[in-house]
Amino acid sequence: MQIIIIGSGPAAFAAVQAILDQDPSITPTIVAPSTSTEAHPFEGTPPSMWPDKAYDELNTMIKKKSGSSFMPVRSHFGNMFTSWKGTPLIKSDYFGGLGKFWSCGMFPLSPSELIKWPFTYEEIKPFYKRIGEVVGISGKDDQLNDYFGDSFATRPPVYKPPIAQKFYEKFSQIKNKHPDFRFSIGVNRLALETRVENEKSCINCGYCMYGCFKKSLFNPADSLKEFEEDKRIKIINDKALGVFKTINGWDVKLANNQTIQADKVFLCAGAIGTSEILLRSFSLFNKEVFIDDNENYLFGLISNKAAKKNPSSFSFGTLTLGVLSKDKYAQASLTTLPDMFLDYIIPRRINKYLQPFFKIFQNRILLGRLHIDGLSASKYSMSLTKEGVLNIKQVRTKASDTQAKKILKALDINLKGTNFRRIKGLMIHAPSSAHYVGGFANGEHGVCVKADGVLKEGLYVCDSSAFPANPSQPLTFTIMANAMRVVTKAIKDRN
Ligand SMILES: Cc1cc2nc3c(=O)[nH]c(=O)nc-3n(C[C@H](O)[C@H](O)[C@H](O)COP(=O)(O)OP(=O)(O)OC[C@H]3O[C@@H](n4cnc5c(N)ncnc54)[C@H](O)[C@@H]3O)c2cc1C
Ligand code: SF4
Repeated sequence: MQIIIIGSGPAAFAAVQAILDQDPSITPTIVAPSTSTEAHPFEGTPPSMWPDKAYDELNTMIKKKSGSSFMPVRSHFGNMFTSWKGTPLIKSDYFGGLGKFWSCGMFPLSPSELIKWPFTYEEIKPFYKRIGEVVGISGKDDQLNDYFGDSFATRPPVYKPPIAQKFYEKFSQIKNKHPDFRFSIGVNRLALETRVENEKSCINCGYCMYGCFKKSLFNPADSLKEFEEDKRIKIINDKALGVFKTINGWDVKLANNQTIQADKVFLCAGAIGTSEILLRSFSLFNKEVFIDDNENYLFGLISNKAAKKNPSSFSFGTLTLGVLSKDKYAQASLTTLPDMFLDYIIPRRINKYLQPFFKIFQNRILLGRLHIDGLSASKYSMSLTKEGVLNIKQVRTKASDTQAKKILKALDINLKGTNFRRIKGLMIHAPSSAHYVGGFANGEHGVCVKADGVLKEGLYVCDSSAFPANPSQPLTFTIMANAMRVVTKAIKDRN
């Protein structure tokens, strides 16, 4: 049986894993616009041993590509995602997709959210479990389970720097004081290696923003390359333009003018990439489809007492704040100031002397990133001209400002008695969360994705292009679990 998977991000990884779980005799072919994995130049060497000039050269390169924004842009040692032209939406043509740059937060959808989805919690739960096993999730059962039911953790929780530990202890004890918003606190659930006995175990060096030198963070590219080395998959380096029905199955037309044939095609090119392929495949020229982002807001918390010396850190969220109001859920991740901030702003040879001062801030401050659900978030329209030009334009933005302000005000009330307060005036709207859904969620223009991911016999949608809503918690765990669900059923039903 010939199987083609289009894409190389988390959805594609999960699709491959599902095939290998069901029938290891099948060798699927992956089509991806890039197949190199760009090894980290300091792989295996901790940041404390990198030469000073490596930091400076790297930061200069990042600033050249992204501008000197306050929040340094996440890169893989200078390799960066790019934007869909003229919009804040981003894409990655690197092998591994956006999964090469993500922050590894792994949250399921809650049973209550899934009531409105094409699959139930009971249907997706075994696939959350399987993804938890193969990817590995660091975390633990805590207050957040009241909403999510299960942490799906398979590895010890991430290390909490002292200031994060202090906040966790204080906030866990508070009784919710606001009548409309209920807060809960927990550790982040992360696709991160934390088992100390494992050679990839995170050492809490705090330099994750440059990509992990130890491969502690899950990157689908590494797993797919291992599958290729074991000859369990084939990889074709090209871009898929469209998918066309034939008497025998499906033709996938590639950008280099070649066509490859398959019995089954699994679309895993991301919400925007897959929507583009579908617009072209079904000749939907100059027809609009819509993509939902989810809005997020940066804020800061400061403690009136410094935590004890900060020995080490982790650059992404170590804590997670859940906020429930009526049936709406919002979520914030809380992180300490990453060590690389100072390197990013001031050259190494000078900043060495400033590090003791920086530690003072690091031991007092937590940065939060609040995500509001996509119902009231940024929205984009997408269309394809006959000449093949993709146009994307923003049709709604900052619609979540009011809700974000309400949540942060409610947080102020709950912070009383914790020794923490919010940093006044700091609420920065981030233009994109990189969590995208939609395109073909509602049978747009007669293209209907069924509940089991089937679009037409032998053609399946495995990413968030058919998701009906964009929740506030990060989506990739659900993208992977759903890809696995769709592919497992397709392989079981093949006869
Ligand atoms: C900085 C950052 C932090 C993030 N943090 C988190 C987080 O903590 N938790 C979380 O859940 N999510 C996070 N995300 C979002 C996460 O990365 C995405 O949800 C996830 O990567 C989506 O997976 P995907 O496989 O559907 O799509 P993608 O990762 O976008 O992969 C799509 C793949 O398809 C390829 N492709 C596209 N078009 C074609 C074509 N025509 N032919 C062939 N190949 C094609 C692309 O090159 C890419 O390899 C983050 C993203 C970023 C950028
Ligand atoms: S802190 Fe970040 S960069 Fe350092 S080992 Fe852990 S994941 Fe890797």
